[in-house]
Amino acid sequence: MTNQCYSNSLISIKDALDNIKAALSPIEEEETVNLHEALNRTLAQPCTAPFHLPAFPNSSMDGYAFNSADIKSTPFTLEQVGISWAGKPFTGELLAGQCVRIFTGAVLPKGADSVVMQEHVTASDQIIHFPGNVQATQNIRYIGEDVRQDDCLLAAPKQLSAIDLGLLASAGIYEVRVKRRIRIAFFSTGDELSAIGNPLAAGQIYDSNRYTLAALLNNPCYTVTDLGVIRDNKARIHACLLDAAKSNDVIISTGGASVGDADFIKEILAEIGQVNFWKLAIKPGKPLAFGRIQACYFFGLPGNPISVIATFQQIVTPALRQLSSLSNRTPLRFKAICQSPLRKQAGRQEFQRGIVQQTENGKFAVISAGKQGSNILSASSRANCYIVLTREQTNVEVGTEVLVEPFSLFL
Ligand code: AMP
Ligand code: MG
Repeated sequence: MTNQCYSNSLISIKDALDNIKAALSPIEEEETVNLHEALNRTLAQPCTAPFHLPAFPNSSMDGYAFNSADIKSTPFTLEQVGISWAGKPFTGELLAGQCVRIFTGAVLPKGADSVVMQEHVTASDQIIHFPGNVQATQNIRYIGEDVRQDDCLLAAPKQLSAIDLGLLASAGIYEVRVKRRIRIAFFSTGDELSAIGNPLAAGQIYDSNRYTLAALLNNPCYTVTDLGVIRDNKARIHACLLDAAKSNDVIISTGGASVGDADFIKEILAEIGQVNFWKLAIKPGKPLAFGRIQACYFFGLPGNPISVIATFQQIVTPALRQLSSLSNRTPLRFKAICQSPLRKQAGRQEFQRGIVQQTENGKFAVISAGKQGSNILSASSRANCYIVLTREQTNVEVGTEVLVEPFSLFL
C-alpha cells in the first residue's frame, strides 16, 4: 500500500519530519522506575513538591547568625550563646545582643534574620566583634525559595537529566512514572557483508553499520534487538520484517534501500505496509524509506556508513524523540568561517564533515575533515561537526561563512 505522501521526488528534511510527525503516535504506556534507573528516561507524569524546598530557613555560609536590629553603624559586639550545626539546630531563641555560631545548611535560630561570614568577624571567647554596617538579611536561604510545596517540581514529558534526579531526590521522591521503553529491532542487508572474526572472501566487507547503529541506539529509553545480517533475498527480508513488526515499535534496516537490482527494501515495504516517503534531498543519505508495517514504524536507511549516521541523526532521532513524547530540539547550529574549499552541487542539502574550533577572537573557524565520500569513515572519525550546506548552495570558497552543527554525544 502506498499513501498520498509517497512520491518519487526528493523531499527536504523539514517535509520528512513533518510527515513523520503526522504519522507517529507517541507511546502511551508507562511504567514506574526508581531514581537509579531513571536517568534519560522520559518522565510521563508531572511531579509536585511534597514540601517546601528548602523546608526551613538556613545559612548559606559558615558564620554567625544574629538579628539585624542589633546592627550598629560602627563596629559592635554580640555574645555567642550557642551553635547551630547542619543537622543539629540551636534550639533556643536569640535575645537582643546575642548571636549564634552557625554552619552552612544549619537551621537559622529563632530571633535571627541575618548571617555574617566568619571571615568578617573576630571572636574572643564568646564575644564576637562585628564590623560596622554589616548587611541585614544576608546569607540566608529562605523556606520554599527553590520550590514551594505543591508547586510543579518537574513538568512532563521530560527527559530526566542528572540534575532532575537530584531535584527529585531532594524532595524525597524515589519512584517516578516514565514512558515505557521503545522496542527497536535493527538489521543489515547485503550479500557482501561478513561478520567480524571471519576472513573476508573476495568482494566482502565487514558489517560496520550494525555496530554504529547499536551504539547510536544505546539509550535507556530503548530496548534494542540486533537481528543480524539478512542476505539480499526478497523472501528473507520480507519474512524478517513481518516477524519483527509483531513485537517491535520500530524497525531500522541499513542497505538495500536504493534502486539497484539487489535493493528490495522499498519494494517490500510497499507490498507489506505503507511507504510514507522514500528519497531525501540530502547528502549523504538520499535513499531513506519511512513507512509502517502494521503498527510498527519502519526506517530503511541507506547502506553507506556515513549515510546511516547522518540519516539516523537528522531523521530517526527526532522520530524516536517524538515516539517518547519529547518535543524536538532544533539542532544547535552556528556560523563559522570556512577555511577549506568545499565542493558542492546545487540540489541536495549537504552534511559535510568538518572540524570546528574557536579562534582567539572568539569566532569559529571550520575546516573540512577530509574526503567526503559516504563510505569514508576515517574522515568522519576525525570530525567534530557537520558543515550544513543548503540545497541551493554550490562550491564554497575559503573565507566564506558556513553553518556548522556540532556532533552529538556519541559521535
Ligand atoms: P546498498 O544501499 O545496499 O547498495 O549499499 C551501499 C553501500 O554501502 C555499498 O557499498 C555497501 O557495500 C555498503 N554497505 C551496506 N551495508 C553495509 C554495512 N552493514 N556495513 C558497511 N557497509 C555497508
Ligand atoms: Mg546492498
